Amino acid sequence: MTTYQKILLCVDFSEDAHQVAMRARDLADRYNAELRLIHVVEHVPVDAASEFMAPPQVEMYDELLASAEQQLHRMAERLGVSRDHCCVATGYTKQEIISHADDVGSDLIVVGSHGRHGLALLLGSTANALLHGAACDVLAVRV
Ligand code: AMP
Repeated sequence: MTTYQKILLCVDFSEDAHQVAMRARDLADRYNAELRLIHVVEHVPVDAASEFMAPPQVEMYDELLASAEQQLHRMAERLGVSRDHCCVATGYTKQEIISHADDVGSDLIVVGSHGRHGLALLLGSTANALLHGAACDVLAVRV
């Protein structure tokens, strides 16, 4: 029987994030597994001409990251997860989740079936991409 030891919960702060989180918490408890959280900040504001961020954009971006970190820490607190097990990454959501899951040796990724994108799809775009790209099991919680 498969027993999961390292579960990675993908948090997008959408309305359904709590429901997805509770499923991940429940699974971690059942398997006595470590639970980690990840949120990816997708849109990196880059100055197209110089490829460097202009100062006002840098400030906005820093605020975005700080706010994401705060929200993720609040969610971690509610789930009884330590801040050390929270990751705010920047880049492409699918890539960052897969690469973090590999780095920390996750054996299960928990994701919502739908979030902010892809409501018209059978599965949201992130869930779909992870199912095709992740090396470990992926649970898409129906929301
Ligand atoms: P979506 O691709 O928007 O339909 O989202 C489906 C699920 O992917 C959400 O319920 C989250 O679990 C996860 N997800 C989407 N965007 C992010 C993100 N930026 N960071 C972490 N997880 C995400």
